[in-house]
Formats: sequence, structure tokens, C-alpha cells
Amino acid sequence: MITSADVVVCGAGIAGVAAAYHLAVEQRVGRVVIVDEREPLTLTSDKGTQGYRNWWPGPDDTMLRFVSRSIDLLEATARAHGNAFRMNRRGYLFATAEPAEVERLRTTAAQVSGFGMGAVREHRDLETYAPHLAEGFEDQPIGADLLLGDAARRAFPYLTPDMIGALHVRRAGTMNAVMLGALLLQRSVAAGAAFLEDRITGFDISHGTIRGVRLASGVGVSTPRVVVAAGPLVHEMTQMLGLSVPVMHELHAKLTVRDPRGAVQRDAPFVIWNDPVEIGGRPLPAGVHMRPVDLTHGDELQLIWTFETDLRQYEWPPRFDDRHREILLRGCARMIPAMTPYIGSGTSGVLDGGYYCKTRENRPLIGRLPIDGAFICGALSGIGLMSAHAAGELVALHVTGGPLPAYAPAFSPSRYDDAAYVSLIEQWGARTGQL
Ligand SMILES: Cc1cc2nc3c(=O)[nH]c(=O)nc-3n(C[C@H](O)[C@H](O)[C@H](O)COP(=O)(O)OP(=O)(O)OC[C@H]3O[C@@H](n4cnc5c(N)ncnc54)[C@H](O)[C@@H]3O)c2cc1C
Repeated sequence: MITSADVVVCGAGIAGVAAAYHLAVEQRVGRVVIVDEREPLTLTSDKGTQGYRNWWPGPDDTMLRFVSRSIDLLEATARAHGNAFRMNRRGYLFATAEPAEVERLRTTAAQVSGFGMGAVREHRDLETYAPHLAEGFEDQPIGADLLLGDAARRAFPYLTPDMIGALHVRRAGTMNAVMLGALLLQRSVAAGAAFLEDRITGFDISHGTIRGVRLASGVGVSTPRVVVAAGPLVHEMTQMLGLSVPVMHELHAKLTVRDPRGAVQRDAPFVIWNDPVEIGGRPLPAGVHMRPVDLTHGDELQLIWTFETDLRQYEWPPRFDDRHREILLRGCARMIPAMTPYIGSGTSGVLDGGYYCKTRENRPLIGRLPIDGAFICGALSGIGLMSAHAAGELVALHVTGGPLPAYAPAFSPSRYDDAAYVSLIEQWGARTGQL
């Protein structure tokens, strides 16, 4: 029976397993215990579309630097383990039929390039354009390619013929994030960490210092340090510490459907339609996304569209509006006409998803909490799979007192103590960086 630990990681979603990995494997902390009441990675972290990107239009270069670091770590882990989580470099493709949107993509790409994404290349034909590879991530271009007119239509023939431009972001793609999480957990356990299936019901704190974790089974684990990685249950867990954290929840649905007609090339990038779409007289914002994913049948597609961003109370299981299926299919058929026969054809697909747990400026909370020995790695919003590696590294450095990267203060919970920062982010909004 485990009764004491050097660090207890509270939650085994992708944030918790990445934190445990960096503590146990990279920082060589002796007795790391990860506690979760569920099977690891089964609340939010197995519901994502599993995309990653070094595309961060601002307001500054903080998120680009942070997620680029995470992609560096993802690549290193993939390289060391035979690409066990099938990380690819197919890119993100933002497509449009609007001249004004082509102009906006050009301007935004120049800005993101200035933050460090890499160069932007423009193409009116395909002579100098390097297409992506279906698998793997090595030896691929960085930056982005802006394809215009026929060049865009020839490179991506399954997209609508009225498309006039497409921006292909190259240090981007998809992966199997559950395999990634399983690998990080397995490496942690091999380095001496332990997983405990239990529910955390409270913390022992004396003189403002963490002393231990209380569990539903009645057993306690004494520890001087805890990492709160509770995903959308962060309110509940920080309340046990007598704290309140400034996070909120949006519910996001994704639809997994089969594509037996082969409407989409299987090696397609993560495609995003950058124009608004009207469905049944209802104008919906730009941003319907589609990616191929190989599941049971090997012909599945995942669709997601962030058109509902109302704040929600956490409830599990979440309830999704069944009309989402039709809306997602219609939106997708706007950019991929060969998907039109699936609308209303009884193609049901699987509608699931989870919560984006986020701060008011949509930047994670990683760092010390105002109780000695308490740390947080959370509020990973819709970017937790791509950013978890760097988030885990950062919280592990906070725990061990290691040298912090330059972006550390931007994620520290104490940033809200700075009145100038609080008034600055009023202008940003909670959808900053959200596609
Ligand atoms: C539809 C959708 C699409 C997404 N697409 C992407 C994408 O393409 N790319 C990307 O990077 N990200 C994506 N995300 C975001 C990503 O999935 C999340 O940011 C990430 O999974 C959050 O991980 P987490 O570890 O913080 O939370 P979770 O995975 O929710 O883990 C929290 C864990 O804490 C445990 N826990 C909580 N309280 C307790 C307690 N008291 N006792 C014991 N255990 C407890 C829970 O059981 C749970 O296992 C998407 C999310 C959704 C919903």
C-alpha cells in the first residue's frame, strides 16, 4: 500500500501523465504517485481531434513559443520510440472562397511568421510547392505555403471548386494522443512512478503547507507536494485546497463518421473552412474542421466546429444536441462537396466530446498555487494534447526548482495579481488562439 510520496499528481489525463513523466523520467524525482478515479486518459484526453500546430496568431509570440517547445518534445519522444503515437506532418489547411479572406490569411501568416513560425511561400502553380507526406514528421518544411487559385485546387482536389486560396501550415498535423499518453505513463511507471486508482477527497494542509492527500478509499498519502491536474474538475479540486481558480468551461462536440465513398483523400491535412456558412437560414461562423482518422474501419473522418461557445456548468456525461450531426455534415459538405450524399442519409456517426476548461484569456494555468507545495497544470482548453508535453515539463521545473523557460510567467496563476496584465487581457477575449 502506498502511504507516502515525494509528489502526488492529482489526475491522469494528458496533463497529469505528462507532469508525471517529466517529474519521474526527466527530473528523476523518486516517488511520484499519480491518482485518478478513472482509467487514465478517459475523461477529456481521449475525446480530442488530436491535432497540433505552430500556428498562433497572437496577440504576441508567447503561445507560439510554448507550443513549439511542446512540438520539439513530441518529436523527440516520437523519434525515441519508433513514432509509436503516429505523429504526422500533414499540416493544417485553412481554405477559403473569399478574396478578402485570402488577404487576411496572407497578413496573418506574415504576422505568425514574425513570431517564429517559419517563412511563408506563395504559389500560383505547384512547381515549388512541396506536398506533405502521408506519414512521419521528419524532413518536412516549416512555415506555411499560401496556394492561390488553380494551385490550391490542384493540390487539394477534394475541396470545393470555388476555393480560391488555401494556407498550408507545415509544422502541424495529427497524432494518436491516447498512445502518446499511454507511452508517457508507461515510461513514468518504468522510472518508478505508481498509479493509484482512487478519488481525491481532500488535502491535509498545515501552516499553509501541503502535508498529504486524502482518498475516498480511506487511505491517505502523505506528501510535501501535489500537482493539480484535474481537467474540468479543477474547481472542485482547488476548492479542497480552499482556493478558487479563474477558469470556465465550454462544451465542444466532435462527430466521427465513416467515409465509405472516399470523399476525402486519406492523407488529407486537418482542413479548416475559413468562411462563414449558412445552414437552414442560420449563419454560422467560419471554422468547420475535418481530418481523416483511422479507427475500426480505416475510413473514418472527424468533424468539429466551434460555433457554440456558451459557458457551461460541468456535468458528466455531457449532453450534446443531436442536431450537431447534421450541422457538422452540412458545414463540411460546403468545403468537400463529395460529402453531400451523407447529409440526411441516416449516416449517424458517433457524437462525443468534452469540455474546454479555460481561463479568460485562453492561456493555461501552470505553476505554483498560493499554498506551499501545491502546483497546478491545467486550463489546457482546446490545446491540451499538443501542449501537454511542454506543460508537464514546465510544472515539473516549478516543482523541482529547476531553471524556468522565458514563457513561464505567462502561465503562472500569479499573473492575475498584476493589474496591468488583467486590464490588458480584457482586450483579448477567451477565444484568443482558438480555431
Ligand atoms: C472535442 C475536443 C477536441 C479537442 N481537440 C484537440 C486537439 O485537436 N488538439 C489538442 O491539443 N487538444 C484538443 N482538445 C483539448 C484536449 O483534449 C484537452 O485540453 C486535454 O485533454 C485536457 O487534459 P487534462 O489532463 O487537463 O484533463 P482530463 O483529460 O479531463 O483529465 C483530468 C483527470 O483528472 C481526474 N480527476 C479529476 N478530479 C479528480 C479527483 N477528485 N480524484 C481523482 N481523479 C480526479 C479525472 O478523472 C481525469 O482523468 C480537444 C478537446 C475536446 C473536448
